[in-house]
Amino acid sequence: MQKTDQDPVDPDKLTQREKIKRLPKADLHVHLEGSIRPQTLLSLGRKNNIKLHFSDVESLKEQNQFANFSQFMKRVDDYASVLCKPEDFTQVTRELGLDAKEENIRYIEVTFSPGMYTGLYQQKKQLDFPVLMDAIITGAEEAKKACGVEMRFILDHDRDFNNYAVPTDVSRSIEYYQTIAEWCKKERDGERGKKFVVALGLAGHERGDNMASIFQSVIKSEITTDIPFIFHAGEKLDDKSNLYYISVEDAMEMLLLHSETPFPRRIGHGISSIKKDNLIENLKLGKFMLEICLTSNIKTQRVPDITEHPLRNFWDRGVLLTLNTDDPGIFGTTLTKEYQLAFDYLGFTINDLARMSLTAIQNSFLPADQKKQMEKSFADEFAELQVEPTPLIKLPIIDDEGGPMLSRVERSENKEPVHS
Ligand SMILES: [Zn+2]
Repeated sequence: MQKTDQDPVDPDKLTQREKIKRLPKADLHVHLEGSIRPQTLLSLGRKNNIKLHFSDVESLKEQNQFANFSQFMKRVDDYASVLCKPEDFTQVTRELGLDAKEENIRYIEVTFSPGMYTGLYQQKKQLDFPVLMDAIITGAEEAKKACGVEMRFILDHDRDFNNYAVPTDVSRSIEYYQTIAEWCKKERDGERGKKFVVALGLAGHERGDNMASIFQSVIKSEITTDIPFIFHAGEKLDDKSNLYYISVEDAMEMLLLHSETPFPRRIGHGISSIKKDNLIENLKLGKFMLEICLTSNIKTQRVPDITEHPLRNFWDRGVLLTLNTDDPGIFGTTLTKEYQLAFDYLGFTINDLARMSLTAIQNSFLPADQKKQMEKSFADEFAELQVEPTPLIKLPIIDDEGGPMLSRVERSENKEPVHS
């Protein structure tokens, strides 16, 4: 793996802030649309004659706080709307890689939702899937060449397929996911796809009738046996309806059911699990990792305030964690800022942050040899910075085969969300 070309420095002369910036990092949870630079958004909008609600970077920045999740999802649509031609996808992918370099991010797993651009969700855009894939992979190759950042892609399905009418047609949603899974499989049968497409994702608004298990036919389908899944679940701290922690249990169950192959088990967000002790125990036992996105949770009102974020509580209880950006372009954040927030407000040390960074690499969907290589390069850089990742003293017990102990999730007493 390419190492940083930063000048060597005496770690004793670095401030904590500089050290945090220099830590080698990985971002496993970032959506392509949500990563578009503000300037690029405006210029692509002009180039493609797309009407946006904002005309300059300042007004855009002022509007990056959302009253509710639907409002945020509409903003994602604004961002997606400027991506019209294959070269637009190449550009924003390349720029995501170049921006990552500035934060010393070495590896990114980019979530990409092909349904939004191919007409699958019956939207206007009808780009061909292979053309789209060629465009984003080209962007990743260009970024790698320009700055050494490795990028891979998670092909994602939006549970609501960008349909804000409630209730969404669940059977259509399942069909769409099946199509995306077939595309994913086909792409991975090709040489570039095999390298660059690493998993299938599931995102969108959690409503109770669209949890991961609804998509069981896709998860258990023959074509997805060799493809890891990653589900967004439990993306809300305040969980009066129980919907969100049930969604996490449901996602865990589906990850366990999917395959005996021990793919890394990851949940996007999962913050609602903090409310249930048995859920936390199961997360630990099954070595599930939560992809935490602090700024995203605050700006979409999923957590009222940074000081109330459960990250610290999860950490103290030994849950595997990593920090991520989610939608850095929309929220005006960077991975360095996310690390700094954990340091400033939640009592994390630089060694703790280095552990989360290493956890990200260890739970990435990279092949084992590349993972090892990346881990080694991170270890070298930590040593140069005189940083020692905090040991995982509370790690769950590993069985003889090295696999996780948990084979099924004992559900909490309430199996159905309470609808108000
Ligand atoms: Zn996300």
